[in-house]
Amino acid sequence: RTVYVNGEYLPEDQATISIFDRGFLMADGVYEVVSVLDGKLLDFEGHMVRLKRSLGELAMDNPLSDDEYLRAFRALVEKNAITDGLVYLQVTRGNPGDRDFAYPPAGTGPTVVMFTQSKPGLADAPAAKTGWKVISIEDARWARRDIKTVQLLYPSMAKMEAKARGVDDAWMVEDGLVTEGTSNNAYIVKNGTIVTRALSNDILHGITRAAVLRFAAEAQMQVEERSFTIAEAQDADEAFITSASAFVMPVVEIDGAAVGTGQVGPVATRLREIYLEESRKAAV
Ligand code: PMP
Repeated sequence: RTVYVNGEYLPEDQATISIFDRGFLMADGVYEVVSVLDGKLLDFEGHMVRLKRSLGELAMDNPLSDDEYLRAFRALVEKNAITDGLVYLQVTRGNPGDRDFAYPPAGTGPTVVMFTQSKPGLADAPAAKTGWKVISIEDARWARRDIKTVQLLYPSMAKMEAKARGVDDAWMVEDGLVTEGTSNNAYIVKNGTIVTRALSNDILHGITRAAVLRFAAEAQMQVEERSFTIAEAQDADEAFITSASAFVMPVVEIDGAAVGTGQVGPVATRLREIYLEESRKAAV
């Protein structure tokens, strides 16, 4: 693979960053994941808007313009012949030359890393037909989940717990209410109404979430932005998750209890179709 590091395109085994990089020492960095279908980028603008928000919340410089990110993404997609897959982007506060809790002085250049992942058939994941099973787990992350930082250890632990219990993912719960999945936003459907937690610092503001809620409204579906419990989810007609790489993925079992019929339902199926169709049309 060819990867991008601080303005250079290099073979992955020649790309290096400093051991003093704050992304490495402090998880002082933010990231974005953008899907590629048919060689084109999905929801690119939305990911740029969120990247700038994450950087702003952490008082970190944005080293590139949207146009420069776009050119670099496209260059990597082309160099690595990606038809279906992902582009990963990470911006860290860079290398101050030593370890210190205080942020380095302005002018310490950020580190920018980008790479691709090839995922042939990304939009035709067999799981979309059978649905995911999830478990619930306490949400033990920090309180600024709206910033897309690279502090992903707790979600990784939750994913490992899900795997150990033979399921696909974990829904995190705080004060008895579902926040989100390990790397996705969570939804239920009851009597035709789509329910998902409202935006706040408690969850990541999913780019796919924004698009799916817009498409749902355009298709005259009812949407309620409010929190829900695991018991309410188990009693729902359908459940699903959204993320840039899984798109809309049905959830058919929560903590061993079937959701609705235990089969993939019509609302999740339709939203997945609409999302893929509309996002492909708007892809850049
Ligand atoms: N919540 C969390 C915790 C995530 O990590 C992600 C994926 N990055 C999402 C939600 C979904 O966001 P998006 O639709 O922008 O991929």
